[in-house]
Amino acid sequence: MGLDEDALEYHRTDPPGKIEISTTKSTNTQRDLSLAYSPGVAAPCREIDEDETDAYSYTAKGNLVGVVSNGSAVLGLGDIGAQASKPVMEGKGVLFKRFADIDVFDIELDEEDPHKFVEAVKMMEPTFGGVNLEDIKAPECFTIEERLREEIDIPVFHDDQHGTAIISGAALLNAADIAGKSLDELKIVFSGAGASAIATARFYVSLGVRRENITMCDSSGIITEERARQDDINEYKREFARDVTEGGLADAMEGADVFVGLSIGGIVSQEMVRSMADDPIIFAMANPDPEIGYEEAKEARDDTVIMATGRSDYPNQVNNVLGFPFIFRGALDVRATEINEEMKVACAEALAELAREDVPDAVVKAYGDEPIQYGSEYIIPKPVDPRVLFRVAPSIAEAAMESGAARAELDTDEYEEELEA
Ligand code: NAP
Ligand code: MG
Repeated sequence: MGLDEDALEYHRTDPPGKIEISTTKSTNTQRDLSLAYSPGVAAPCREIDEDETDAYSYTAKGNLVGVVSNGSAVLGLGDIGAQASKPVMEGKGVLFKRFADIDVFDIELDEEDPHKFVEAVKMMEPTFGGVNLEDIKAPECFTIEERLREEIDIPVFHDDQHGTAIISGAALLNAADIAGKSLDELKIVFSGAGASAIATARFYVSLGVRRENITMCDSSGIITEERARQDDINEYKREFARDVTEGGLADAMEGADVFVGLSIGGIVSQEMVRSMADDPIIFAMANPDPEIGYEEAKEARDDTVIMATGRSDYPNQVNNVLGFPFIFRGALDVRATEINEEMKVACAEALAELAREDVPDAVVKAYGDEPIQYGSEYIIPKPVDPRVLFRVAPSIAEAAMESGAARAELDTDEYEEELEA
C-alpha cells in the first residue's frame, strides 16, 4: 500500500480522526459527578468570578491551546478551506500532545475576512491558555496576528511565521559560527516574501543581522525602493525594500553569505551557488522540493557549503516541531500573556547551544547509528531529541519572567528537573 492509502486507513480506523477527550478526575460515584458538575462546580466558578487568574487553578485552561485556522494556506495544499484543513489541525494537536503533553482544541473557522476571524478568536480567549494560529495565508496572517496580540492577554503565535523563523534562526547562529562570520556582517538573500520569509527576515534582525544587509526577492525579483514607490507591493514586503537597481534572484545572490529559500522548489542553480561568498550558508526550505537539492548545492563548490532544508532525509532539517511544543510549554507554565521577541530569541539560542553539546546514544541510534557531532552536517538538534523539551521550555519561561510576560514565577532549575522526570 502507498502512503496515501496508509494515511486514509490510519485516519478512518475507528474512532475516526486522531484525538478524543478524556477526563482527568474520578467520575465513578454520584458524589464525584456532583463535584465535577452541578452543584459542586459552582464553587470554582465563584472563585474565578472573583479572580479570573483562578481559571488556571480550577480549569484546564493552563494546559489548553487553541489551534486555529481557516484553511487558507495549508501545507502544500493551498487554500482548501476550513473543513478540509481539520486533519492537519488535529495532527498539530497530536504533535503538541506527543512532544509537550499539551492539550489542543482544533478550531476550524469558515471565515476569510481577517476582521471577523479576529473577532471570533477574541471571543474564545477565556477557553485557552494560548492560541496557535495555523495555515493562514499572507498577508492576512500578519494583520490577524498583530491585532490578536494587541487585543487578547494570552500568547498568540502564528507557527508558520515564527516557527520557521526561530528554528532557522538557531541554524543561522550555528552556521555563522562554523563559517567564522559574525551575524552583523552577513549579507543575506531571501527568496520568497510570504508568511515565513517576512517573519524570518524580521527575526534575523532581532538576532543581530543588519536590515540593510538583507535583500528580499519575490516572484517578480528583488524588492527595491523603486518597486515600493510604484506601489505594487504590500506593506510587509515594503519593510525590506532596498535602494538597489532592479534585478532577479541570480543578481541578488552574487557575493551573498547566506541564501534563505522560502519560496518554491528548483529555482537556484549551481551557478548561483558558485557566485556566493566563501563557505556559503544555504537554507533551501521550500517543501517538498527545496530551491536547490542538497547534493547539487554541496557539489557546486569546493569549500564548505552549510546546508539546511525542510526535509527529514538530509542533515539539518528545519522542522517546526523543534519549537512550538516547547515554546508553548514554557509559556503556559508561567501563565504568559504573550510570546514576545525575547522569548523567541531565547528559544533560538537554547536550540543553538544544545546542538553544540554531545548527542545522547538514544538519539544517535534513532538516526541510523552514525556519529552526530556539531559541525556543518549538524547545526540544529534532531526533532526526536528528548533534551529539547527540558532545555527550551525553561529558557522560554525564564525569558518570559525577565521580560515581564509571566503571570506566575517559577524556579527554572527546579522546573528543568520536573520536566526531565
Ligand atoms: P507564501 O506565504 O505563499 O509565500 C511564498 C513566497 O514565495 C511568495 O512571496 C512568492 O512571491 C514567492 N515566490 C514564488 N515564486 C517565486 C520565485 N520564482 N522566486 C522568488 N520567490 C518566489 O508561503 P510560505 O508559507 O511563506 O512558504 C513558502 C515556502 O516555504 C513553502 O514551500 C513552504 O513549504 C516552505 N516552508 C518551509 C518551512 C520549513 O522547512 N520548516 C517552514 C515554512 C515554510 P509573491 O509574493 O510574488 O507571490
Ligand atoms: Mg503550518
